[in-house]
Amino acid sequence: MPMRQSFRDFAPYDPGFTPVDVLLSANENTYGVPAPVQQLMVQAVANQAFNRYPDPMSNALRDAIASWQGHGLTRGNVCVSNGGDELLFNLLLAFGGPDGMPLINCIPTFSVYKLYAQLTGTPCVDVPRTADFDVDTQAVEAAMGNGGIVVLTSPNNPTGNLVDPVWVQRLAHANPTSLILVDEAYIEFASPQASCTSLVTACRNVACLRTFSKAFCLAGVRCGYLLADPAVIDGLSAVRQPYSVDVAAQAIAQVAVEHAEAFQPAIRAIMASRDEAIARIGAIPGCVAYPSDANFILVRVPHAHQVWCQLRDCCSILVRDFSSTPGLEDCLRITVGTPEENDRVIAALAQIVKE
Ligand code: PMP
Repeated sequence: MPMRQSFRDFAPYDPGFTPVDVLLSANENTYGVPAPVQQLMVQAVANQAFNRYPDPMSNALRDAIASWQGHGLTRGNVCVSNGGDELLFNLLLAFGGPDGMPLINCIPTFSVYKLYAQLTGTPCVDVPRTADFDVDTQAVEAAMGNGGIVVLTSPNNPTGNLVDPVWVQRLAHANPTSLILVDEAYIEFASPQASCTSLVTACRNVACLRTFSKAFCLAGVRCGYLLADPAVIDGLSAVRQPYSVDVAAQAIAQVAVEHAEAFQPAIRAIMASRDEAIARIGAIPGCVAYPSDANFILVRVPHAHQVWCQLRDCCSILVRDFSSTPGLEDCLRITVGTPEENDRVIAALAQIVKE
């Protein structure tokens, strides 16, 4: 069956998974949910009425998220979604599209932004980052002259660096009709001062995307949320599929919020392992490990694609190959895992590079 003309060239998203011993390709939290919290999640799911539709707005979870995040946020500032991906799609559907604002995309970055811009008919303006992968602030300011939806990924995937909240605030004030989306999917692995969440109540055009997939070990559950002005939340609520967040996801995410402290030891361990791994990988001759405030490290290594193949085929380790992405030639992205996983990938990398 021929697809509609505009989508004929689209292929299904391929996360590139292969069965391996050490899976460090998707920036998941390999520690997993702490066992006592997982028990509470299972119990919470068992208490749900499976024959009933979920609350379409996830109101109990919205209330829990608003008071957990603080900064004077209330239910009206929160939209819960089937993973952060659904929010990205709906944001472009509601505020982009052929008759809305263009997307301003700071490449290299998370590829899904551009994909969803294409699916929603949103024009996309690419603004390349600097050689250090920082956002080119002047170029973004220039691109926003006529308004737009700018996505600032902080920390950026796959480069690991942050945006400066002071600049974000200035940009928001200077462009009151534009929408500034700060994608903070990995922010829990950075210092608390790095977050732009406090700007949401101060600037009506700043929105922060968060997810339970990374720090909170719930990638399989599919739950994310947006913190934004009620006018943005209302726009998203108008276009979303009503029951996209099922009863299980709502109940599980609620337990994660109520027990957020239980995830902190693994988050702290990942941050410490990350800093140690950057030093160790950087010491391998020929390898460059970029600074990171996330749970992954971008590594530049000669013949990266062959290295990636050898890691997978000879060492049963899967990382992410970015070597064919413009600006990321010879780059691999390695998720920070448990100390054992980190030791294994670093030793394998050192051995392959030496050969
Ligand atoms: N933003 C960024 C930068 C990401 O890397 C991801 C996941 N890879 C997401 C958003 C979406 O995550 P999820 O849909 O699992 O919440």
